[in-house]
This record gives sequence, C-alpha cells and structure tokens, in this order.
Amino acid sequence: MSETVDPRAPQRIRHDTRMRLLTVTAITDITPLMRRFRLEGDLDGFVSPSHADHIKAFFFPAGTTPLLPVIGPKGAEFPPGTRPEMRDYTPRYWDNAAGWIELDFVLHGDGPAAGWAAQATIGSSLAIGGPRGSVVVPMAYDWYLLAGDETALPAIGRRIEELPPGAKVLAVIEVENAAEEQSFKTPADLILTYVHRNGAPAGTTSLILDAVARAEFPAGVAYAYIAGEVSMAKSVRAHLTGQRGFNVEYVKAAGYWRLGVADAKEDH
Ligand SMILES: Cc1cc2nc3c(=O)[nH]c(=O)nc-3n(C[C@H](O)[C@H](O)[C@H](O)COP(=O)(O)OP(=O)(O)OC[C@H]3O[C@@H](n4cnc5c(N)ncnc54)[C@H](O)[C@@H]3O)c2cc1C
Repeated sequence: MSETVDPRAPQRIRHDTRMRLLTVTAITDITPLMRRFRLEGDLDGFVSPSHADHIKAFFFPAGTTPLLPVIGPKGAEFPPGTRPEMRDYTPRYWDNAAGWIELDFVLHGDGPAAGWAAQATIGSSLAIGGPRGSVVVPMAYDWYLLAGDETALPAIGRRIEELPPGAKVLAVIEVENAAEEQSFKTPADLILTYVHRNGAPAGTTSLILDAVARAEFPAGVAYAYIAGEVSMAKSVRAHLTGQRGFNVEYVKAAGYWRLGVADAKEDH
C-alpha cells in the first residue's frame, strides 16, 4: 500500500556533526543589544540549509583552554571534569571557502553565553559543533508567518532574506525599543511589524501574541515559525491552531529560552 506524501511536509536532513575551534576576528554591535561575531577557522563542509538551524557553542570556565569534544552516541563527549556549558546559536552568515561564520548574540546580561559575548575580544576562541540536522520547509505554502523575540532575529532575518522573489511573508518581532530594530534586504513580499517592550523585562509581555492576534492574514495555507521565550511561543502556537485555523503540522513553535531558567529550551 503506498502512502500519500504531503508535499508541504517539512523535510528532516541529518548532517555529519563537525566540531570546530574558531577565532574571533571581528565584533560589530549591529544594535545596542545585538553583537555580531565573525569567527574564522576551518569551515570546510559546513552546511546550514534552514533558517531554523543551530550550532552548539561551548563555553568553558574563564582561564581554561577550549577543548574540542569527540562525538559519541549521545552527542558531544568531554573528558571528566571538563564539560563546558553549551548553548544554541543560529548561523547568520558564513563563507566556507573564506573560512568564516557570523553569529549574533543578544546581550541579555546573564549566563555563560551572554557573559562570553559581553567580554570576548578579537582573538578570543569559540568552539562550535553542528548543525547536526536541519528541518527544511518546502516552498509549497501560500504564505509564511514568522514571529519571535530578539533571540529569533537571526533565524527570522535569514528566512526573510532567503525567501524567493514574491514569497508572501508576514513577520512580527519583539525588541526592546526602536534602536533594536533590524532591516532586511529581501526579494520577498514582506510585511514586517516590530513591537517594543519599552523597559518591560524580556519574556514578560504578550506583545507578540497581541500583534499576531490583531494581524489580518493573507488568504491560503501558511507555515508558521515562532521562536523565542517558551511561554510566548506556546501561546502564539495555541492562538494559531485554536483560533486562526492553522494546521498543527504547519506550525513550529521553538522555545529558544525560558524566563528565569538557565539553559532551557522546548520544541513544539
Ligand atoms: C535553535 C536556537 C537558536 C538560537 N539562536 C540564537 C541566536 O542566534 N542568538 C541569540 O542571542 N540567542 C539564540 N538562541 C537563544 C539562546 O540559546 C538562549 O537565550 C540561551 O539561554 C542563552 O544562554 P546564556 O548562557 O546567555 O543564558 P542562560 O544561562 O541560558 O540563562 C541565564 C538566565 O538568562 C535568561 N535568559 C536567557 N536568554 C535570555 C534572553 N535572550 N533575554 C533575557 N533573558 C534571557 C534565562 O531565563 C536565565 O534566567 C537560540 C536558541 C535556540 C534553541
């Protein structure tokens, strides 16, 4: 019996997981709270076919030498007592041949990754691994919805820039204030809405949900990518599937971080 394959179903791809020890060669504050690092090293074989991809970045205690792990059946393995903190970051731009990748870090102030980003200088090292896999969304939808906070700006920005000419995309992004807004060059047909926290702590507002709830959606079948604080991502997903007629299979809610909890993420 042959099974019908949904042409809209997102495609999962596995990659060979490679570990790389890279060196910071440029640091740019693209906005006051978003710091871009260019990291150079061996980028041979690096692939990232989806905007939702992530690399794992390793953060070692200050004063210790970064060690590249070996990949075991359960992922990265380190000698006893040397296991670093690990956090996920989005490959924003890269060039395999020239041997560089750029990662954008939110300077949110607390945690090994934000701490590294606040103090790293030209010449600092960063070990990264992956991406281990990708989920590629086919260009088979009538339009695309993107929603997220600033941690999702790299993924949402990539998606906006990578969509083909004429693709309809509606994006809702929460940032601290107007100074944190980024603009994107895209051939897509983009409607971009920024909402501002204006001093409220990140992860505590319903600004994204409210803006999505207010939005008039184009006609047809859409794929939604929601990313950012866990509760926000879940609430927008519930709104889309419960009240806006979205097919649950066509909504990805990626909890990138959880308010008040270190190293927390959740996928729905
Ligand atoms: C697939 C994926 C891709 C991601 N891509 C990026 C990216 O490209 N750029 C990026 O900046 N982040 C990205 N993130 C989010 C990032 O991994 C988390 O914010 C992570 O928790 C940061 O680690 P930390 O060591 O700074 O803080 P943690 O040690 O994890 O947390 C310390 C404290 O800070 C809080 N916290 C964590 N993140 C934030 C935040 N953004 N704002 C306010 N408080 C926060 C936590 O709730 C906790 O109380 C991504 C996450 C995932 C899952």
